[in-house]
Amino acid sequence: MSDPSLIRAVKGMNDVLPDAMPRWHRVEAAFRETARRYGYGEVRTPLVEPTPLFVRSIGEATDIVSKEMYTFVDKGDDMLTLRPEGTASAVRAYLEHAVHGQEPVSKWYYLGPMFRRERPARGRYRQFWQAGLECFGDSGPQIDAEMIEMVVSLLASLGVQDLEVLVNSLGSRDTRARYREALRSYLSPHEARLSEESKQRLVTNPLRILDSKSPVDQEICASAPSILDMLDDADRAHFDELTATLGALGTKFRVEPKLVRGLDYYSRTLFEIQGKGGELGAQNALCGGGRYDGLVKELGGPDVPSIGFAMGLERILLALPNEASARSLDAMVVVAEPSLNVKAAVMLKQLRSAGLTAEGDLRGQSMKSQLRRAEKLGARTVVILGGAEEARGVVQLKDMRVRHQQDVAHDAVVAAIRARLALEGASHDGAAR
Ligand code: ATP
Ligand code: MG
Repeated sequence: MSDPSLIRAVKGMNDVLPDAMPRWHRVEAAFRETARRYGYGEVRTPLVEPTPLFVRSIGEATDIVSKEMYTFVDKGDDMLTLRPEGTASAVRAYLEHAVHGQEPVSKWYYLGPMFRRERPARGRYRQFWQAGLECFGDSGPQIDAEMIEMVVSLLASLGVQDLEVLVNSLGSRDTRARYREALRSYLSPHEARLSEESKQRLVTNPLRILDSKSPVDQEICASAPSILDMLDDADRAHFDELTATLGALGTKFRVEPKLVRGLDYYSRTLFEIQGKGGELGAQNALCGGGRYDGLVKELGGPDVPSIGFAMGLERILLALPNEASARSLDAMVVVAEPSLNVKAAVMLKQLRSAGLTAEGDLRGQSMKSQLRRAEKLGARTVVILGGAEEARGVVQLKDMRVRHQQDVAHDAVVAAIRARLALEGASHDGAAR
């Protein structure tokens, strides 16, 4: 039993401890690098925004706004919300800094925590991390295809297996209004059998019923009309060119006319990438994205067609093969006696300044215990400082792989360690870290 007086993290909000971090860093670095190659620059916006920003952009009838937001009144009586997603903040910043007046197209990426008060489960948390892209000022469809291709390439390069890319078109606002009515007429005769949630949505947001997880709802929706049959000519041309471009790029996808999203602001292109592998379980949506041509205007700006996507980092990590994140250390500094601790501190500084990863254990432990620690930390070499050696101006350098030991002069230690690391054929700043 844990001590009840111990303060614990908020439910659904996770710590990530240093041992787990190499996997996070690998995903984050791959995302940043891919974004850079495709011409996206990073934007950082506050974690907290005025509540109306999300209500207006995401929509009252969505799950996020109706039940998932962390909203509070601050001491100055302002109504604030912890951001549940990144697009609204990006659009606010885009408008606040009048970026549309400075360049025709802006490509932004972000990476950071989002907050939604959902029921926690594997892959579903109350604080979770998203990496996302927004492209303002390009109406597509090539940019839409580029974004989808980019995410697929990124996930493939990370080693996420068994991806499925779903694409759909939500048409324009008019198409959607017509479709909403068609869907309502189709669903109304089945109302009694619909889940309670879907009954509600029949009134507020019928498109979301297509997204229901209830088996009965799904069965009813199986023969619902398809939005793709209601697209107008311009929407249809956009969608056809999107799929043609994806084909030319070699990006496999499946057209899924029932794909909708929880957010109200989407138009035309919509996509979702699902993973099947790893430990994902039921929460298999790795990323969702789409075009939101009306949003910038909705938030008080000019007409700027835009598209964006966001992926959940925890879910990517669950989908990744579980590679052992072996610790690695270039050198461990070990002392024969505590009187050499100051010398050891100087040696550590020297090694680290040279770019090596180095660790010491200067707590006054026995040599044996220090060497055990070196093994545990995965040290490739051990630098042993001994009284007799110090008198001669040398240290003992021990290669942990081949169990070879030699005397090395103080000023030659860095070069000798580098030579040992090179001998192993692994670069000392390699991917294992
Ligand atoms: P879901 O259908 O799983 O609820 P969503 O439609 O709410 O997803 P988006 O708002 O489009 O998701 O967010 C994009 C991505 O962010 C999702 O595909 C998912 O990977 C991740 N995500 C969303 N909500 C959570 C959460 N509560 N915990 C962890 N990751 C999340
Ligand atoms: Mg959700």
